[in-house]
Amino acid sequence: MPKIPYGRQHIDEDDIRAVAETLRSDFLTTGPKVGEFEQAVANFCNVQHGVAVCNGTAALHAAMFALGIGSGDEVIVPPMTFAASANCVLYMGGTPVFADVQEGSLLIDPAKVKEKITSNTKAIIAVDYTGQPCNWEALRSLADKHNLALVADGCHALGASYKDRKVGSIADMTVFSFHPVKHVATGEGGMILTDDAELDAKLRTFRNHGITTDARTREESGAWFYEMVELGYNYRITDIQAALGVSQMAKLPAFLERRREIAKRYDKSFAGTNVIPLAVSEEVEHAYHLYVVRLANRDEVYTMLRDAGIFAQVHYIPVHLHPYYQEKLGTGEGLCPIAEAAYKEILSLPMYPGLTDQEQDYVIKTVLELA
Ligand SMILES: *Cc1c(COP(=O)(O)O)cnc(C)c1O
Repeated sequence: MPKIPYGRQHIDEDDIRAVAETLRSDFLTTGPKVGEFEQAVANFCNVQHGVAVCNGTAALHAAMFALGIGSGDEVIVPPMTFAASANCVLYMGGTPVFADVQEGSLLIDPAKVKEKITSNTKAIIAVDYTGQPCNWEALRSLADKHNLALVADGCHALGASYKDRKVGSIADMTVFSFHPVKHVATGEGGMILTDDAELDAKLRTFRNHGITTDARTREESGAWFYEMVELGYNYRITDIQAALGVSQMAKLPAFLERRREIAKRYDKSFAGTNVIPLAVSEEVEHAYHLYVVRLANRDEVYTMLRDAGIFAQVHYIPVHLHPYYQEKLGTGEGLCPIAEAAYKEILSLPMYPGLTDQEQDYVIKTVLELA
């Protein structure tokens, strides 16, 4: 019996060699590899600054800190995402406000965002769900009109573009994750990209306890003096992880190509069937972190796939339906009806560069038998 997950990392001997080299070097945590990794991601996305941190959730927290989000501030977020996209607002004492998604794509609906803007709104966090960029033009015009910061949770979308602009270069800050199921793996890891030097400086301070210099800079300049100017955290990534990230970034174009090839085969196989893929806009280049379909009998298909060794997954339980949110924020059923209806039907099918054609054929055949 095969065992096919919905997503997994793709590590080769180059990657292993890169990590082993770093283990033999002087730096295990912040060293030359962190800067190299930041440069590699920033260059790939055509952005000035990249700040690497220990995971995508820390990256979101750092972004909220850099914007100065605090008590009384509202940040608009979509419900169809991982809880971290909204939790980061709560970390800073702010209030996440949910704006429902669009029917076909399940991406945040700019018209719903507009309805949720109040005098307390400070920012919008839009999620490029599954790897498809949101309607950034509409979001940008809302943000500019109401003087809001625009943050992209791009954790699904490294390598995607919107109207020929790479995700990472569109919002004021873009957050990536390097969890093993994402496009590039570092074990745990995250990054914030921005073209704004002031935000960059705040992010760097935040990841290192709120201290303005790091240990390596002090060592090089021969100075012992440092000062803590903000309440930051230890959100640093290690040089070991960054070495893996640098090695993985070189393979990103090939990873993306393979993911798009897999998506094309799914699209073709499901056309005209009961398996309905999410709508994709003509204006985007999709990065396919996930391949999500809608199925009337989702629960049944999920269980039978699992029995066939295919570990599909549901992305996501709408954030506002999690018990914590219902209890603390009073959110619940009826707040975002489109996301709630979609939640009952969505299923993420296996999608990762190492998925073979034979494995994919088996997935397609099994899904079509059950749908
Ligand atoms: C993976 C993910 C995160 C969190 O990233 P971690 O590195 O696991 O902390 C945040 N938002 C979205 C949309 C994600 O998919």
